[in-house]
Amino acid sequence: MAEKQIAIIGGGPAGLMAAEVLSASGHRVTVYDSMPTVARKFLLAGKSGLNITHSEEFRLFADRFGTASPRLRAALDRFGPDDVRAWAEGLGTETFIGSSGRVFPKAMKASPLLRAWLARLEAQGVSVMTRHRWSGFSDGGLALETPQGRKIVEYDAALLALGGASYPRLGSDAAWVDWLEDKAIDITPFQPANCGFDVAWSVPFKERFAGAPLKAVTATSEAGTFPGEFVISQTGIEGSLVYAHAAALRDRLARGDKAVLVVDLVPGRTTERLARELARQDAKASLSNRLRKGAGIEGVKAGLIRELAAPPILSEPEGLARLIKALPIPLLRPRPIAEAISSAGGIRWSELDEGYMLKKLPGLFVAGEMIDWEAPTGGYLLTACFATGRTAAEGMVAWLKR
Ligand SMILES: Cc1cc2nc3c(=O)[nH]c(=O)nc-3n(C[C@H](O)[C@H](O)[C@H](O)COP(=O)(O)OP(=O)(O)OC[C@H]3O[C@@H](n4cnc5c(N)ncnc54)[C@H](O)[C@@H]3O)c2cc1C
Repeated sequence: MAEKQIAIIGGGPAGLMAAEVLSASGHRVTVYDSMPTVARKFLLAGKSGLNITHSEEFRLFADRFGTASPRLRAALDRFGPDDVRAWAEGLGTETFIGSSGRVFPKAMKASPLLRAWLARLEAQGVSVMTRHRWSGFSDGGLALETPQGRKIVEYDAALLALGGASYPRLGSDAAWVDWLEDKAIDITPFQPANCGFDVAWSVPFKERFAGAPLKAVTATSEAGTFPGEFVISQTGIEGSLVYAHAAALRDRLARGDKAVLVVDLVPGRTTERLARELARQDAKASLSNRLRKGAGIEGVKAGLIRELAAPPILSEPEGLARLIKALPIPLLRPRPIAEAISSAGGIRWSELDEGYMLKKLPGLFVAGEMIDWEAPTGGYLLTACFATGRTAAEGMVAWLKR
């Protein structure tokens, strides 16, 4: 095949996966990234163990992307959770399935995998140019700001893999939205996904309990009821159990509806049993003692009840039992997108052809979190970034052949 000049802008998981496929099929590929090093978000994900994919049944897995699930399906069929594991193992990173079904590298970090991956790309002839920031279109090419000044990159085909809008300090600042909108590309506004929420905590409560985890609870919202844990923060609530409900709660708030996360503090006991055990306590005993002896509740869980309950109910065993089983935490707003694990929104699917090429800009492809999909935490995000990176690369190979 004749060698073509291919530019990939963005060296995150999606861009690097595309570089791997394109270079393996004989193309000369250059990856440009604005940051001093590539894949910073991938490395940060490694700090919490790098949940690289999920082991649940594929049918369930492929349905975790909300309304985008049907659009992502072809990419996930071609590169799904088993392929992610085999690919990581091919790079010397063995994986294991955690108790929740999530898949992690045995080393519980991203750096060995990234090192081996970059070495493979180098061996396949991929050039990586860091501190090269795409700043829009110019003279039929892509304008890049570099330490040596402005460059115009001409290409046979190019891929934008610029990420979403969360954690902009790691490089994905969504500045590209304006440049693509100028080309009439339709983009759903970015919103925080997998994010915490603000709660109007009293000063004494947050001074005492910020940082405290609520373990072994369940939480309910329109999204469903899930077990897990979350953390009280200075501004509200954070953590994996909150993220599981974040999209549903965020959408309620955006519609102007009230949003509450309903927490069961003692999932192992029924309301009736709790009410019986609370009724057996001395009515004159302090609330702390009644909660501890009657319900096994103390510390931050007891603090949360005091913080949120109206005093009369606290002296009434049945009401208190109901509250322990369904304590509503009223939410004010999602935390800012800069703090969110990922983002919702991005380039609308109607703008893309089957090979992830922008229909209005032939030769320009997109992949990763910059496309309009969202998913919970659990390895879905990285898997979809890898899968879309591969599909865009395959789409580009086919387009170049034509
Ligand atoms: C704290 C944290 C933990 C996470 N943990 C997990 C996890 O365990 N499992 C999981 O599945 N997902 C996790 N994620 C999400 C996952 O890391 C992202 O979904 C994924 O990195 C997105 O990949 P991407 O290639 O689309 O974009 P990114 O990784 O954001 O990469 C985009 C790249 O483009 C570059 N770029 C942006 N704009 C320009 C420009 N104008 N010019 C040049 N370069 C540019 C950026 O510098 C960056 O290198 C986590 C995210 C965070 C923040």
